[in-house]
Amino acid sequence: MEKYDVIVIGGGPAGMVAAARAAECGKNVLLLEKMRNAGRKLLITGKGRCNITNSAPISEFITHVFPNGRFLKKVFNQYYSKEILALLERYKVDVTLERGGRYFPTSQKAKDILDALLNWCRDTKVEIRCGQKVDEIISEEDAVKGVISNGKKILADKVILATGGMSYPATGSTGDGYALAKTLGHTITKAIPALVPLETEGDLAQQLQGLNLRNSKAVIWSNGKKMGEAFGEMLFTHFGLSGPIILTLSRIAVTELQQNNKVEITIDLKPALDEQKLDLRLQRDLNEHGKKKLVNTFKLWLPSKLIPAVLNYLKIDGDKDCHQVSAKERKQIRYLMKNLPFKVSNYRSFKEAIITAGGIPTNEITAKNMESKLIKGLHFAGEVIDLDAETGGYNLQIAYSTGWVAGNC
Ligand SMILES: Cc1cc2nc3c(=O)[nH]c(=O)nc-3n(C[C@H](O)[C@H](O)[C@H](O)COP(=O)(O)OP(=O)(O)OC[C@H]3O[C@@H](n4cnc5c(N)ncnc54)[C@H](O)[C@@H]3O)c2cc1C
Repeated sequence: MEKYDVIVIGGGPAGMVAAARAAECGKNVLLLEKMRNAGRKLLITGKGRCNITNSAPISEFITHVFPNGRFLKKVFNQYYSKEILALLERYKVDVTLERGGRYFPTSQKAKDILDALLNWCRDTKVEIRCGQKVDEIISEEDAVKGVISNGKKILADKVILATGGMSYPATGSTGDGYALAKTLGHTITKAIPALVPLETEGDLAQQLQGLNLRNSKAVIWSNGKKMGEAFGEMLFTHFGLSGPIILTLSRIAVTELQQNNKVEITIDLKPALDEQKLDLRLQRDLNEHGKKKLVNTFKLWLPSKLIPAVLNYLKIDGDKDCHQVSAKERKQIRYLMKNLPFKVSNYRSFKEAIITAGGIPTNEITAKNMESKLIKGLHFAGEVIDLDAETGGYNLQIAYSTGWVAGNC
C-alpha cells in the first residue's frame, strides 16, 4: 500500500503552499487534486490579473476578515505578505503595488502566480496527482491514517484539508471538505455566499445595465436603519447591483435578508458634494441654462445613461425648459442624486460569489499549526476554514499563510 508523510487534499493556493512547505521540511508529500489541473480558481482571480495580497500591516489586515480575524495573528506572525512576495521574487515574478495596498503581478497575469506555486512544488519534489478526488479521510482512535481516493487507500499520518469553499463550483470548489471534516466529528458553520452581487426589485437597475460608476457611495439600510456604507466603483446589471462596493456591502445584505429584514441600498451619485453644495450647483446651472431643455442640462450632472432613468423615476418632463423647473422639482432631483434607491430582493448564488462565508470554525483549530483540535494529524488550510475577507488580496493571503503553517514541520 502506498504511504506518504503528508497528503494534501486540494490543489488551490492553500494546498500548493502547504504541500511545498511540507516538502521543503523534508517530508514525502502527495497532493491530490480532483480537477484535471491544479489552481483553476487562482487563474480567474482579480479578473485574470490576480490581486496577490495586500500591503496592510497585520493589525489592519485582520479587521478586514470575518468572523474572527484575530485567529490569524499567530498564523501571520509565521508567514505573511512579505514572505509570499519574497517567494514570487525568487520565481522571477515582478509585482506592482496599486491603490488600496493591492499587489498584482506586473504582467497582469494570474497564470504567473500559479506557475510560481507549481514550480515551487516541482522544485521541492511534491508529487501532484490530478483527477484524484478524495472521498474519505481515514482515522483511527482520533488520529489520521490516510485517505481514500478513486477507491484506493493511501496512507499518511498527516493530512492537510485544503478543498476550498463552495463559490465558483466549476473550478472544483464544491464544498467537499465540509463533508469530509463532518464525518470526523467537526462542526461546520453554515456556508453562505459572500462578496456576491445583489438582485433588486423593479427594472431601474435593468434600465441602467452595463453602467459602471467609478466614484459613487452606496449606503445599505435594513428596516430603515443605516447598516453601512462603501465608496468607490459599482456596476448595474440585468438583475441588480454588482461591482466592488456592492460586493463589500453584500455581507450585510445577505445576513439581513436571511433574517427576513427589508434591505435597501441607496446610491449617492454625487458623493463629493453635500446637499447644500449640490443644491447651489443645480440652481446655478438651471439659471445659466434657463432657455435650454432640462434633459440637456442634466448632462452636466450625470452620465447620459442615467438621465432618462432618473427623469422617468421622478416623473419630470425632460423637454421642459430649465427656467420652468420648480423649487420642489429641484429638491426632488437633488434628493434622488444623493439617494437613488434600490430594494434588495435577493443575493446571487455560489456560482457568482467570490468567497464562501462559513466552514470549519476556528475554535476547532489550533492557530499555531492549523491542526484539528479533534483529530491528531488533520490540518486545515484556506477557504475551507470559517474565515473570509473583503476584496483586496486578503483572501489569497489567508490561503497562503494558513497553507504554509499547516505544512510547516
Ligand atoms: C472570481 C473570483 C475572483 C477572486 N479574486 C481574488 C483576488 O483577486 N484576490 C484574492 O485574494 N482572492 C480572490 N478570490 C478568492 C480566492 O480565489 C480564494 O480565496 C482562494 O482561491 C482560496 O484558496 P483555497 O486553496 O483555499 O481554495 P480553492 O482555490 O478553491 O482550491 C481548492 C481546490 O481543492 C480541490 N478539491 C475540492 N474538493 C476536492 C476533493 N474532494 N479531492 C481533491 N481535490 C478537491 C478543488 O478542485 C480546488 O482546486 C477570488 C475568487 C473568485 C471566485
